[in-house]
Amino acid sequence: MSDCIFCKIASGEIPSKTLYEDEKFRVILDLGPATRGHALILPKTHAADLFELPDETAAEVLVLAKKMGITLKEKLKCDGLNLVQNNGAVAGQTVNHFHLHMIPRYQGDGQKIGWTPKKTDPEELEAIQKEITG
Ligand code: 5GP
Ligand code: ZN
Repeated sequence: MSDCIFCKIASGEIPSKTLYEDEKFRVILDLGPATRGHALILPKTHAADLFELPDETAAEVLVLAKKMGITLKEKLKCDGLNLVQNNGAVAGQTVNHFHLHMIPRYQGDGQKIGWTPKKTDPEELEAIQKEITG
């Protein structure tokens, strides 16, 4: 994708603060970090989102996230880690090249990553279960 910024970053055409690179992935520091060390895993081959990502790449991403997560914990002494992956504008995706956020968490960092739980009931849950699995 010639006009995709993450393709250009992943290929090295646009410089980035790279933490890791191999033939298939580049891991970079996010320019608008939620916390210290907020990183993004970018596949080098363009896929707009999770739905376009080849199965093999999807599987490798989580293995790489585990490896990078261990490094972030060791080097930055973070207390926890959020993995966030947005698909579609309504879900918060702003760059249409698959990326997995790795957000180190520190006691008292003040960040909020989550949602407001709503009420439901067994009937509604059952209806949803049927809709998805039926
Ligand atoms: P999304 O909202 O699509 O899940 O996440 C996009 C992320 O990419 C944001 O956290 C944003 O700060 C980051 N970002 C956008 N443009 C650039 C860039 O040019 N370089 C880097 N390193 N991060 C970027
Ligand atoms: Zn791309």
